[in-house]
Amino acid sequence: MPSYVGRFAPSPSGPLHFGSLVTALFSFLHAKQNNGKWLLRIEDVDLPRSVEGADSLIMESLHAHGLEWEGDVVYQSKRNALYQNRLKQLASHCYTCTCTRAEIRNTGGVYSGKCRTLNRPIEGAAIRFTHLDPITQFEDLLQGNVEISDPHSMEDFVIKRKDGLFAYHLAVVSDDIDQAVTHIVRGADLLETTTSHLELYRALDSVAPVYMHLPVISSEPGRKLSKQNHALALDNSQASTNLIKSLEIMGFTVPDTLRSASPKAITDWAIMNAPALHLPRVREMIVPSA
Ligand code: GLU
Ligand code: ZN
Repeated sequence: MPSYVGRFAPSPSGPLHFGSLVTALFSFLHAKQNNGKWLLRIEDVDLPRSVEGADSLIMESLHAHGLEWEGDVVYQSKRNALYQNRLKQLASHCYTCTCTRAEIRNTGGVYSGKCRTLNRPIEGAAIRFTHLDPITQFEDLLQGNVEISDPHSMEDFVIKRKDGLFAYHLAVVSDDIDQAVTHIVRGADLLETTTSHLELYRALDSVAPVYMHLPVISSEPGRKLSKQNHALALDNSQASTNLIKSLEIMGFTVPDTLRSASPKAITDWAIMNAPALHLPRVREMIVPSA
C-alpha cells in the first residue's frame, strides 16, 4: 500500500479556472513531494448541477498544465452501489426527515433534529445523519488546529436527499475510503464541512485522512473565484504562464529561465522548490481580477 494517496476532486460545473488550477497544482505538488499517488475523481454526484462536457474540459486543462493523474478517472455518478452500501452501514446513525427548506429557514436556518424520533416514512424523505457527539476541531497540515463553531456544522446533515441523490458528504467520504486516499488537499472553502466528514469516518470505522486546506484564490473580498460566478476558463495555450502565476501568487519566486519552459519543467522545478507546506496559512487570498 502506498503511504501517500492524494487526489483532485473537481465538480464538473464548468471548465477549470485559475482558482481551481491553484488547488490542483498544490494538491499534485504535495503528492509528488511525498512520493505519493495523485488520482482524479469527477464529483458529479449532483448530476443535475453537472455541466455536460465539463469533465473533458477539466481533463484537457490538467493535461495541458502537466498535471497527470494515475489510473482511471472515477465518476461519482457511477458509484451509487458503493454509496448505498455505506448508507446501510450507517443505518443506526440515520433517520428519515421530511422537513422542507422553508420550514428549516423559518425556525432559524439550522436544522433542529425535529424528525429524529418521528420515524417519518421513507417515501419522499431525506436521510439525515444523527450528530450526537459533534467533532468541533481537527488538525490541518497547513492551517494548524482548526476550530469550527458554525452551527450549520453541528446540525444533523443530509446524506441522501429527498430526490434520491446521495449527498456530497456521503459520496466524498465513501470515495476517499474506497480509493484509500490518505491525504486530502483542497480549498479552505471546505474547512467547515471537514468536521462532518470526520464524523462519517468515525461512524464508518475508518481512519480519517490527513487534511490540508489551501488558501482559496478570490478576485474580490468574500467571493470565491469559482465556476459558479463565471470565472474565466483557463487558456490552455498559456499553461506555463498560468503555472508560474499560480506559484508566484502563492509566494514562490520562480527563476526567469523557467518562463519559457514547458509545463512539465515548471512542475518538476516546483516539486523540488515550492513546498506546498510553505503556503500562506490563510483561508483566502485576494488577487486582482484578470
Ligand atoms: N468537489 C469539490 C469541489 O469541487 C471538492 C471536494 C474535495 O476536494 O473534497 O469544490
Ligand atoms: Zn425533519
